[in-house]
Order: sequence, then C-alpha cells, then structure tokens
Amino acid sequence: MDSIFGVDIGGTNVKLGILSREGEILDTGSVPTMAAEGPGRVAERVRDWLRERSGDGHACVAAGVDCAGLVDGAKGYLYSSPNLPGWKNIDLAAIFSEHLSLPVVVDNDVNCAAYGEYRRGAGRGTSCFACVTLGTGVGGGIVTGGTILRGSSGFAGEIGHTVVQIDGPLCSCGRRGHVEALVGASAIVERAHRAMENGNTSVLRDITTLTVKDIHDAAVAGDMTAIAVLAETGRYLGYGLCNLVHLFNPEVIAVGGGIAGAGDFILEPARETVKLNVMNERLADVRIVQAELGNTASFTGAALLAAEKVPAR
Ligand SMILES: [Zn+2]
Repeated sequence: MDSIFGVDIGGTNVKLGILSREGEILDTGSVPTMAAEGPGRVAERVRDWLRERSGDGHACVAAGVDCAGLVDGAKGYLYSSPNLPGWKNIDLAAIFSEHLSLPVVVDNDVNCAAYGEYRRGAGRGTSCFACVTLGTGVGGGIVTGGTILRGSSGFAGEIGHTVVQIDGPLCSCGRRGHVEALVGASAIVERAHRAMENGNTSVLRDITTLTVKDIHDAAVAGDMTAIAVLAETGRYLGYGLCNLVHLFNPEVIAVGGGIAGAGDFILEPARETVKLNVMNERLADVRIVQAELGNTASFTGAALLAAEKVPAR
C-alpha cells in the first residue's frame, strides 16, 4: 500500500508519522532535532528512522515536511524559523528530497496543522475553517474551499500578530499589543505574577518557576486567581478571534497547541468575547472548539499536502 511520510520539525524533536494517503496514521515516532547540526544531518536522522520502519511494509511515495517560521510552501523554501537557529534561506524541500529519495513538500507548521484538522479533525466538512495554535507563540491557519489561504507571499493567517491592544506589551516579533504578546505562554505567566503582586491570594504563590500547566492545574482545583488569569487570557484571545471572524467568516475555529489544554478556562471567555463583539448574530454562529489531532495535526497535514502532489499508483 502507498503511504506518505509526515515530518514535523520542532525545536527539540522531529515528530514523525507514516500515514495512508487519506491521512490515517499507521505508525509514529520521533528523533531529536539538534538543529545546530544543520538540516542535512536532521534529514539523515529522519531517513534512518524511516529505513528502520520500512521493514513493516510501508512504502512511502512522498513526504510532507513542516516547521515553524517563514516558509514559501510553493517552493519548499525556508526563510527562517524561530525554533531552528541558523536555518536561514535554505531549500528545505531539496535537502529532504535528496536524503529521503522522495518527492517532498514543505510548509509552515500551523498551515499544516490547519490542513490536518480540516481533513481529519475539528474542521472536517467545513467550507471555511480557521485553526489557531496557542503555545509560546500564537499561530493561525485558514482553510477555505479546501485550500490553505497563503496570501501574496505565504504569510496569511498570522492571527498571533494582529493587534488587540494599542501600545500593549512587546511581542516576540518586536511590535506591540499583538495577540501573542497577550495570550502566549509567557504573557499568561506574567499575568499570574502581576495578579499576585497585586495581593491576590493563590496556591501559585508557592511555586518558584510558574508554568501555564501550574496555572491550569490551580484553576481546575478552584483557585480563583488562576481562573481569573486564564479568563483574562481568553478575553484577549476572543478579540483576536473576533477579528478572524470578521475577516474570514469561518464556520469553525479550532484552538490547539500546548496551552489549549487549559480548555474552557480560556475558550469560554473567548467565546463570550466573540459573541459580545461581532457585528451581527450570523457571525456569532461561529463554533469555537478544541482542536482534535493534538501533536499529530502538523505532520498529518504535511503528509496530506504531499499526497496531493503524487498521483496514486
Ligand atoms: Zn507580533
């Protein structure tokens, strides 16, 4: 049976999947990234993993590769990636194609996650779908009419860098008041510290190095400060989603990524904010849900994009 290889290059690990042409996962694994060794060495490690698994009868006919950053999907070209220092202006598709001896498609990780969710997860059957990933950064991807919206130079859908607070906190991109600067992991931790400096009581006071997971755990246990911190985060996210709704009128917005585990503590205030701020009831019909594919979304989408480039045998 033809299968497709999905390769999601993160800063620490490369997540790997062997999938059917329809995106059903047949096998998964991971190898360490060690980006400093350069893309050629990473491609070799990925190739070695695939070779070990090839004994299981999976004959991959194409590979989809994704990573965070500025990627020209049409050319398979990576301009730069926040997670992969030194990987600048490289023909990533050519490098992986050479090492894997397969046709290779390369795209941005959130575009791939959006496409994976559209085909196999929370966006199935929609005509216009948006996917937002919450983590250290805040990413976005739009799938409309079955196609990833890319814009004129491949950067469409960057909801994390839309402005929700004029002159707001500094964003990782160097600008101010972007969604990511108010909703990203460090913004949530900062918000919790500020709440406690303002005298709020909380179990979080006893934790030396606070994480979003700690805040979520405290919220689950009923800690009012943690609940308020996540609710405020959700409201800022909601303003960002509100902009997304007005621009694209999606049927469904799926929210995924590491922080999405905080679930309705963030999503419910986000839904409320959207309802209160969209211009009419029709737009308020948008369904804001948790993404379904977890950390398999990106390599699933990448593999499905690659499958489309290679005719079935
Ligand atoms: Zn920004």
